[in-house]
Order: sequence, then C-alpha cells, then structure tokens
Amino acid sequence: MDKDIDQINPYDDAMGRITEVAERYNIDEKDIEILKHPKKILMVNFPVHTSRGLKIISGYRVQYNDALGPTKGGLRFHPHVSITEVKALAFWMTLKNALLDLPYGGAKGGITIDPRGFTQRDLEEISREYIRQIHSFIGPAKDIPAPDVYTNPKIMGWMMDEFGKIKGEHVPAVITGKPLSIGGSQARSYSTAMGGFCVLREALAKYKINPLQTKTAIQGFGNAGMNLAKIMNSNNMIVVAVSDSKGGIYDKNGLNIKSVINHKNETGSVVNFTGAKNITNNDILELNVDIVVPAALENVITQKNVQNINAKIILELANGPITRKADKMLYEKKIIVLPDILANAGGVTVSYFEWMQNLYGARWTEEEILKKLDNRMKNAFDELYDNYVSESYVDFRTAAYAYAIKKIIQAEKDRGRI
Ligand code: NAD
Repeated sequence: MDKDIDQINPYDDAMGRITEVAERYNIDEKDIEILKHPKKILMVNFPVHTSRGLKIISGYRVQYNDALGPTKGGLRFHPHVSITEVKALAFWMTLKNALLDLPYGGAKGGITIDPRGFTQRDLEEISREYIRQIHSFIGPAKDIPAPDVYTNPKIMGWMMDEFGKIKGEHVPAVITGKPLSIGGSQARSYSTAMGGFCVLREALAKYKINPLQTKTAIQGFGNAGMNLAKIMNSNNMIVVAVSDSKGGIYDKNGLNIKSVINHKNETGSVVNFTGAKNITNNDILELNVDIVVPAALENVITQKNVQNINAKIILELANGPITRKADKMLYEKKIIVLPDILANAGGVTVSYFEWMQNLYGARWTEEEILKKLDNRMKNAFDELYDNYVSESYVDFRTAAYAYAIKKIIQAEKDRGRI
C-alpha cells in the first residue's frame, strides 16, 4: 500500500475528526483538549543478537487515555511502525473501548521490524526483550497488550511468560490473545471477524439488504480478513475476492474460502489460485461488489481512489483504512461506512472476556463467549443507529466518535481531572 498517498498522517487525521465531532455536538473545546494528547509514551531501543547478527530494535507503547480504566490495545510488528502510527492506533483503541462499554482506556504498541525476515528463535528473543524493557509500564490493572498485525498467540504466550518470570508469579491477565493452554479464551482467535460479521448482519438488516444476494471483496487475509471470509462462506455469503500482501484474486462466481486457505498454506499467498483472476490490492477495493472489507493496513481508501469505490457498504476491519477526506466523499456518495472502532471491536471485546476469565480463574465455553460478544456488538450498533444515525442523519463514524468522546470526558470529569 502506498503510505504517501495524500501525505496522510493518521494521527493528524484522527485529531481533525475529533475537532469536527466536538463542533457538531457542542462539546467544549477545553474538554476535548485532554483527548488531543496521549497520556504516556514509552520508546525503547534495545540490542538483540539475531540469526542475522546484532540488531538494534525500536519499540513503542502508547497509553493514550486511562479515564475509563487500565489501558488496553494491541501490539504490532511491522516495518512501517512509527510513533505517529502507534499514537493514532492508541487513540482509536481509547474510543473503541469506550464505545463497547469496556472498563478500559486505550493503548497500542509496536515494534518496527519485518517479522518475515527473522527466525522463530529471533522473534522469541525480540518479544521477550521488549517485555523486559517495558514490564514496569504494563500489568493487568495498568495496561494490557494483545495481538495485532503480524503478532499472534505464540508471541503473546512468550510475552506473558517473560512478564511472569520478571514478577516471580503467574500473571496471565497481563496480556490477551494467548494460546488456550495458558489462559487464552475460546473464540479469541476469530473474534475480530465475528464481531465484524455481527455488525454487518445488523447493518444489512437495517438497510433491508439480503445478505445472500451480496458479493464481498476482502483486502487482507490474516486474522481479521481470513476469518471473516470463512464466517461469511459458512453463512452462505459470497466472497468474490480476497488479497494479501502479495496481491489478490477474484472470481465473480465466488471463492471457496477453505480451498483458498489451503492454497495459501501451501504457497504462502492467495495469488495464483486456480480458476480465479489475479488482481492488485487496489483493484480489490474498486470491484463491482456490494461489500468491501479493508482488513489490512491504514490509508487504503484515499482521495485518489475514492471515486472508484462501487460498494454499498464498507466494513472496516482494519484500523484507519479510510482517510478523513475520502470518508466525506463516501458519505456524499451514500456509501455506508461501518467504522473501525465499531466493526473491529470484537477482538478487544473477547480480550476483555479473556482478562476477566484470567482474573477469576474461570473458563467460559465458546457458546457463552459468542453469545456475550453478539450482545455487545448488537448493542453498540443499535446505540449508534437508534440515537444518532437515524435521528440526525450522521454517518456511523461521527456517531461512534460522539458517543465515545462524551463518555470519556464524563469519566475525566467524574475523576475530577478536568
Ligand atoms: P494479520 O497479521 O493477521 O494479517 C494481516 C494481513 O494483511 C495479511 O494477510 C497480510 O498479508 C495482509 N497485508 C499486509 N500488507 C498488505 C498490503 N500492503 N496490502 C494488502 N494486504 C496486506 O493482521 P490482522 O490481525 O488480521 O490485522 C489486520 C487489520 O485488522 C489491522 O489494521 C489491525 O489493526 C486490525 N485489527 C486486528 C485485530 C485482531 O484482533 N487481530 C483487532 C482489531 C483490529
């Protein structure tokens, strides 16, 4: 993805949005100020002896706002990780946790590496050293990391183990998205996609669109995108295109997702799938489909390609895939955008269930968790639709920002901080 399109800085973009929302909903500029600054930022640079020699690794953790509780948010391994990106992601987590009524503030972390260039042993050492560097900054009642792009349950397991060694005790609730055997939760592995699916289902019902007559294109075939494709297929919905970092594939009659997954496992990518046409990561967004799902990285729908978007609905599983200017143009085109802080909140919601199970030493069934997840996602969708979108004809993102911002400011006031 071209990171330089429109010269977009996702953090500035996010700050611009809150100013607009504050004006629209008469939120006092003085109150909004607290949300324009991350509360704490930690940057670490540490040496690791890897199979490719000595490397100095840079990592971040941003605790954006803790008015609603300990901060929570994922941890990304990616060559583009920068402080600007982590600040934007931490800000979005703050709003997302507020929107889902979770007892959390927002945070995010990242390490600037391309994990594909390292062995498993290297990644373990990098993960453990990162925790040694940041351990006093995190904790179950302080800040709780989780997986994000190119991090996974195995990495969360190493990190939890290292944290426990430093503290000299078991602390499973310090991190979520762990393997099941060491305190992970049922359904966490596909919860982001399942949450997105619930939101999509509600939106299709409200706008009277038959899900079985829709066609969907999904950009990104990792935890979020691949699991959504699987869930849609098992609900008889047609997914015509998917993509990963190497490119995309398209079959107008629909892809068999199980076969695509096998193909990706065998070849390392979805491209060159038998019977499908290879397409680019930009083509996939511009296809003639009903639903487009960005499920990879930020800033993929911009002023440059927004005019070519044909979908009726965009489900943002990725964080920040649409720039602010493009968002306005989508609204003018009457394309419904189900925004990231709602659409991809299933992951942090089940992370919350994991944290609760860890704190109580409990084990909930997959069925219980899916039911609780469905309720939370549906309630959040209904809150926005009933109280904002249908009332004042705003887009879902503005509605979600307004709801979350008001809630955080109230908490700041009730604490006597502002
Ligand atoms: P992942 O590492 O599991 O998968 C990322 C996918 O994106 C891979 O298929 C990769 O090939 C693809 N990709 C990478 N670069 C790309 C490019 N330039 N063009 C197209 N595809 C590209 O990551 P994930 O956890 O699925 O995260 C994807 C998005 O979802 C991110 O924005 C993340 O912040 C968001 N998200 C994830 C979770 C979660 O629980 N995993 C929760 C909320 C939001």
